Amino acid sequence: MKEGLVEVFKAVGKELIKDRQVVIFSHVNPDGDAIGSTLGLYHYLKNKVAKVTVIVPNDFPDFLKWMPENEKILQFDTQTSQSSEIILNADLIFYCDFNDPKRVEKISDVVKNAKGIKIMIDHHPDPVDFVDYMISDISVSSTSELMYEFISTMEGSNLNGKEIADCLLTGIITDTGMFNHNSENRRTFDIVAELLSLGADKKFIIQKIYNEYPLNRMLLLGNALYNRLKFYPQFSTAFIFLSKIDLEKHKHQMGDTEGFVNIALSIAGAKFSALFLEKDDHVKISFRSNGQFDVNFFARKYYHGGGHKNASGGKSYETLNNTIDNFVQLIEQHKDEIV
Ligand code: 5GP
Ligand code: MN
Repeated sequence: MKEGLVEVFKAVGKELIKDRQVVIFSHVNPDGDAIGSTLGLYHYLKNKVAKVTVIVPNDFPDFLKWMPENEKILQFDTQTSQSSEIILNADLIFYCDFNDPKRVEKISDVVKNAKGIKIMIDHHPDPVDFVDYMISDISVSSTSELMYEFISTMEGSNLNGKEIADCLLTGIITDTGMFNHNSENRRTFDIVAELLSLGADKKFIIQKIYNEYPLNRMLLLGNALYNRLKFYPQFSTAFIFLSKIDLEKHKHQMGDTEGFVNIALSIAGAKFSALFLEKDDHVKISFRSNGQFDVNFFARKYYHGGGHKNASGGKSYETLNNTIDNFVQLIEQHKDEIV
């Protein structure tokens, strides 16, 4: 962990007193680390402060809907007035797994009028400084790992709770792709060992997230790999594109395309991959790389997005076809950095 964070943890810890109302946010299209880190913090705080609420901008995938008390999470897009009232009354506001207010979309308009002390807990590069306390460390595997460091600094050997452990282990497992990437430091594994000691059920978590896909998702993947995958070996780049019709044909549900971009990257000779999903008014894009090519920079420069060096995302407001044509031009232009 980065030096100096323990002092920030302790300063934040002093704010966590009994009568406080706490709100915890994560980013739009919440993933396993977003839900894992926020619910982990929620379970830690629920008996410590007067009230704690997790709010996310929109819905999250079904494969996370087994997580303890996930049903108490508020979705801002459908529970706007209830969420706004809670945000405006909060004494403390935690921002987890993102570092730019744009990532909570419309919530940021409400937060402008909120009086609460703002605390960021995140592991993405280039944080925007909009908070009172910044807990930002790009050396950790996930926000959930950093959340463990925070909670365990507060509690020491008193830390207990299977719910906290299941939530944080979910975030670590999903953000590392089951320890495929972002998990080169032994500290991650020491923390996993601690979480197992606290009762985290690794087998159950992996079963729920990776081994209970709906049949439609498998058929969508089959179609994507057979008909919608392109590989440009001369640019070491592979990508998958799915139109609205493709998605509708397979009764696409949120989360069904999770992992497709990693499958494209696993082709021998691919160092850069992308997934293009056609939405109503934009194309949602995911990028992955497995070498020096910085996809955070690429997503920021061309696609209004960002993320990590090897995993990022963004949007295009062109048609799906034009988006793909432009992308192929860009990979040709950047081929010396990719290959
Ligand atoms: P995914 O491809 O799984 O949606 O996202 C991969 C990574 O990129 C995650 O860390 C996610 O937070 C980040 N990311 C995805 N889309 C965006 C975006 O539109 N803007 C920013 N800043 N980050 C994004
Ligand atoms: Mn994360």
